[in-house]
Amino acid sequence: MAIEIIDKEIRKSIIEHGAIDAYKCYQCGMCSGLCPWFLVSKVSFIVNRIPHNVKLGNVLVSEKPEVLEKEIEELMRCVGCDLCYEYCPRGVNISDIVRAIREILVEYQSLPKSLSDVVAKIYTSGNPQGAPEEKRNAWAEKYHVTYYTPDKEFAYFACCFLSYEPQLKKIAEATVKILNSAHISFGVTDAKLVCCVEAVRNIGAEKVFLELARNNINILNKTGVKKLLVSSPHCYTAYKNDYRGLGFNGAVIHITELFAELIANKKIYPTNPIPKRVIYHDPCTLGRQNNIYEAPRLILEAIPELYLIEFPNFNRQNSICCGAGGGGLWLDWPKDERLADIRVKQAYEAGAEIIAVACPYCFIMFEDSIKSMNLPLEVKDISELLQESLPETF
Ligand code: SF4
Ligand code: SF4
Repeated sequence: MAIEIIDKEIRKSIIEHGAIDAYKCYQCGMCSGLCPWFLVSKVSFIVNRIPHNVKLGNVLVSEKPEVLEKEIEELMRCVGCDLCYEYCPRGVNISDIVRAIREILVEYQSLPKSLSDVVAKIYTSGNPQGAPEEKRNAWAEKYHVTYYTPDKEFAYFACCFLSYEPQLKKIAEATVKILNSAHISFGVTDAKLVCCVEAVRNIGAEKVFLELARNNINILNKTGVKKLLVSSPHCYTAYKNDYRGLGFNGAVIHITELFAELIANKKIYPTNPIPKRVIYHDPCTLGRQNNIYEAPRLILEAIPELYLIEFPNFNRQNSICCGAGGGGLWLDWPKDERLADIRVKQAYEAGAEIIAVACPYCFIMFEDSIKSMNLPLEVKDISELLQESLPETF
């Protein structure tokens, strides 16, 4: 069905898909000023128009293809970072409203091609890379990591990016080394466990999300997982929040929570100095959406000679998105319209030598920006920094 035939029934449909918050909005406009796109001078993204238009039923109704195209482009700007939600005086969840509209776009096959392609790839192969299932845990072989069995404490899921992207495997490897140093009993999750599908949900493909999420929950329950350890905040929020009510009752632990606890309980001792100025970027999904602000900082502060600096004005709940959320990882905005570039510039201006991250999406976005901006900065995951600081045990 072509998008042009959508009529004003759309309002009912969008509300039914989860945009009920639109009715709470009283058009103060704060969201438009808070949204990170406000920092991109070339882009005009008037966020408060979204709930307003939903209330009027004025969404995706134009007869003119160029108007629809522009509207869809605007809807793709939202990275689901929840900065507007954090401060909205009426508690309007714009991410939910945008997701509801995107679900309509999915139904009418009107998503940007790069997003429909990635959803299809995840659906058919289980990961956004389109890589084979049997290679999912190949990174763990050289460390002789075995599969999780119920006699082990933790099941570690390294996420699709750490499992398949060559430049990110080192993060999963560093994690294993740290866990071994602390004599933690763990195994990797079953190779049939696919992508957490958090991104799939935010893109708007709810049916694919539900099918794959249920499949993942069955595997975790069948293999007896009680404590799921994850490196990606996106996996964290999927299992902890998005899968709520779907049948997984185990605990979900982000790797920074465990590492901070191991340091506090003196199970590991960071001893090797890292004499660098390190700035920590709060990922939206770990910070604002899951309230984990302290654990990553406690880890970095425990590393000798590491000088931890903060983003002036834009840290903790005011952190701005790297641009990868809500499917942004697969949208190729022009060079002067990238949120990651703004963040990298902020880090550079704050005098950082290293941007420390705790999310593979942020890692990819910042690494790309640093290269293209040719700045003397490095991006490192907290797991890498912590492992470098531990005495060699492996
Ligand atoms: S901040 Fe909240 S109430 Fe104000 S315009 Fe935005 S969504 Fe509406
Ligand atoms: S969720 Fe983030 S990107 Fe989306 S409108 Fe709100 S502030 Fe902007």
